[in-house]
Amino acid sequence: MDSKKRVYLFGNGKAEGGADMKNLLGGKGANLAEMNLIGVPVPPGFTISTDVCTEFNTIGSDKVRQILTDDVRKAVEHIESMTGTKFGSNQNPLLVSVRSGARASMPGMMDTILNLGLNDDAVEGLTLKTQNPRFAWDSYRRFVQMYGDVVLGLKPASKEEIDPFEEIIEKVKHEKGVHNDLDLTTEDLKELVVRFKNAVKEHTGHDFPNDPWEQLWGAVFAVFSSWMNDRAIFYRQLNNIPAEWGTAVNVQAMVFGNMGDSSATGVAFTRDAATGEALFNGEYLINAQGEDVVAGIRTPQVITIEGSRRWAVLAGVTEEERKAKYPSLEETMPQTYKELFNIQKKLENHYKDMQDLEFTIQDGKLWLLQTRNGKRTGAAMVKIAMDMYREGVIDEKTALKRLEPQKLDELLHPVFDRDAIKKAQVVSRGLPASPGAATGQIVFFADDAENWVKEHKRVVLVRIETSPEDLRGMNVAEGILTARGGMTSHAAVVARGMGKCCVSGAGTIVIDYKNRTMTAGNVKFNEGDWISLNGSTGEVYKGQVETRDPELDADFQMIMDIADKYTRMYVRTNADTPHDAKVARDFGAKGIGLCRTEHMFFEGNRIVAMREMILADDEAGRREALKKLLPIQRGDFEGIFEVMNGLPVTIRLLDPPLHEFVPQEEKNQQEMAKDMGISVEKIRNKVASLHELNPMLGHRGCRLGITYPEITEMQARAIIEAAMNLKAKGITAVPEIMVPLVGTVAEFKMQKEIVTQTAEKVFAERNDRIDYLVGTMIEIPRAALVADQIAEEAQFFSFGTNDLTQMTFGYSRDDAGKFLPIYVKLGILKQDPFQVLDREGVGQLVRMGTERGRKTNSNLKVGICGEHGGEPSSVEFCHIVGMNYVSCSPYRVPIARIAAAQAALNN
Ligand code: PEP
Ligand code: MG
Repeated sequence: MDSKKRVYLFGNGKAEGGADMKNLLGGKGANLAEMNLIGVPVPPGFTISTDVCTEFNTIGSDKVRQILTDDVRKAVEHIESMTGTKFGSNQNPLLVSVRSGARASMPGMMDTILNLGLNDDAVEGLTLKTQNPRFAWDSYRRFVQMYGDVVLGLKPASKEEIDPFEEIIEKVKHEKGVHNDLDLTTEDLKELVVRFKNAVKEHTGHDFPNDPWEQLWGAVFAVFSSWMNDRAIFYRQLNNIPAEWGTAVNVQAMVFGNMGDSSATGVAFTRDAATGEALFNGEYLINAQGEDVVAGIRTPQVITIEGSRRWAVLAGVTEEERKAKYPSLEETMPQTYKELFNIQKKLENHYKDMQDLEFTIQDGKLWLLQTRNGKRTGAAMVKIAMDMYREGVIDEKTALKRLEPQKLDELLHPVFDRDAIKKAQVVSRGLPASPGAATGQIVFFADDAENWVKEHKRVVLVRIETSPEDLRGMNVAEGILTARGGMTSHAAVVARGMGKCCVSGAGTIVIDYKNRTMTAGNVKFNEGDWISLNGSTGEVYKGQVETRDPELDADFQMIMDIADKYTRMYVRTNADTPHDAKVARDFGAKGIGLCRTEHMFFEGNRIVAMREMILADDEAGRREALKKLLPIQRGDFEGIFEVMNGLPVTIRLLDPPLHEFVPQEEKNQQEMAKDMGISVEKIRNKVASLHELNPMLGHRGCRLGITYPEITEMQARAIIEAAMNLKAKGITAVPEIMVPLVGTVAEFKMQKEIVTQTAEKVFAERNDRIDYLVGTMIEIPRAALVADQIAEEAQFFSFGTNDLTQMTFGYSRDDAGKFLPIYVKLGILKQDPFQVLDREGVGQLVRMGTERGRKTNSNLKVGICGEHGGEPSSVEFCHIVGMNYVSCSPYRVPIARIAAAQAALNN
């Protein structure tokens, strides 16, 4: 055995770990250690490191158990000595919780076991110690139930089936003639334990483990195994968490929130995770155990008076009723509340970020079970960062680094139109768990949500409550509505993490899973009916409510200004219309990095002229048709130049293969023949002649301009004339003409010659000049390799990483959907290379292209216009290789601006 340290102790204000050891101890373990060090009360325990998870996955449980046995024994003894307890004792038994805890928090994705250590002796000990037999036996039956589910695998096999343990409980309740779990007597609970154990034996063929040590090993390995369960794998994919990280296991002395009315358990946030408001908030339940609050089974109460009153207004509860039935912790346990309030302040100040806490009050004594940086919505992310900056807690660089660029996307989504919302019929109200506007068709099951979305439907997932099993369905839904659960329910926490609209705990709705209906007041909805959710107010509306573009607030503008201070690269946009150009400019785009001209040929009757050109028998015929296209293109360019007044606009010459412009289907060919007054035969023959086996590698890009120079000529003329027309109006156009799909310097040179000759002609005609650039896309691997030659001719490069990725991997952009998801799932690729730039392979070509290009042309302007230009990790890479700008779709401009600034700060 080696001497590597695998187990880390904590307790009584001492700890072997600390907050800086997240990689090894996981977030939970590192923070449990840290809380000890800063004097926050935490039940003693130990953490088994994430490295052991990796060992578990490579050498298996038997070997790991051998290696760990001594360390774990000593660690358990450490808890025993601190608490004066003993594993399995019939006098004073040690009970522990066993929880997962990865480097990045993955709420609810992996497994937890509570009350471990209970057996037929220990339950007597617990009875003796608490003088509360009912409590002791209730804990025992909860333990057998949880362990049976998580470790021994007794779960319902399908969504229609009821949980095997719940089934037994229902049966016993029926036999005893009681309705409520709380009406079960100690004897009934004893009976439940027996029946649960019988069910385990029947299912697994083994007795339920009575030995606490066996229980412990089973639980530890179950937690390690849960790292590889489907929902954890899916969550990691969603959040780009590598599988190699593994989870730690935290074993901790149990404290009980269900020991009577002086006990409680809860979850709290130091600020509002939905809006970012600087207000301590959270939920708790008296006489309850940890998972009860988040599971959404009982309606939790609110921690602060302020929050409780706000809740009552939303829930339609009067102040009298609130005080009597749902008092805040501030009212029920003022002393403990004060202590909790001080601790949350201390933790936020210590971590300098919004904290998400779990606490338990056992018999009046407060214990913290967890603290972590809280998940939050995009809006809360911006507000909290800016508030903390203004409060002087963090500096502006830290505020900037706090942002997850991708999350800004939420702020840019549509909101409900104010007038439409006034007219909408409110059918229910719940809690505003995660802001946003969602409209969709009702589905009740997560797998249905997935299937419907595959059929291009928009759905709202409606559940009594959600569980981690529903994650995939939640991810594709427009919004989530639950009947039960509070602001810290699973649905609420996960939805906020996903930036998805969520209304939780809409208590007036009744959901019937079997008949797939939902009733809200006297309105009945069937599966497939439309509803709308307002995640900012908690309102639920009948039907589809109209939406409009959001307005961005002052905090957003401010953080963008800060970003501009630190960024080195600037951000352009990919836009083909004045409208898109305007949206992007409003979001701070500093120019257009890619204007695809082909889209312009489809609108209205332009396609007719385009088709005339394609069908022409000779150059003269083509020129005739191009003459008609010239003014149309010129007009389009004028519109875009006008919006971008003074900013550069990169216009790409025609790129796609010509067959994309002619109809492939007989019916459409007949229509076209009629419109153009020619025979179908002629069209059919032309379409056949345009057919290519590999159009993406065929007659497209500059190959078109080389075989039909008149096309390039017309486009160059349209661009230059447009710019000169605007100049006459006092508007500055800065055209950059871009040649697509260049692979050799000769190709580029020929196209450039046509462009410059055409420009000179126009200048001569008008007796005036303007400035313009001619450059190229780098999207064929060969172009990156001979970039030094090309750069001697080109004034700028723009990396077309869509094609460059396609051609470097040899994956067709249009067909990769058949295998790429499987590649990612199998780990052959870490990410989809069409979304996240592949630094290792494609990245080499980007770097080489940039370096070689700059070697022969030190003024070469370099940017990127593939889809990667709006993806944060790819933006960082572009910064690292020294690009001048990135260009992305209009709605990703703010994301790219933040990503670019962060790249500058981090590199
Ligand atoms: C590219 O290939 O990356 C690119 C921007 O061009 P397109 O997507 O139009 O082929
Ligand atoms: Mg391309």
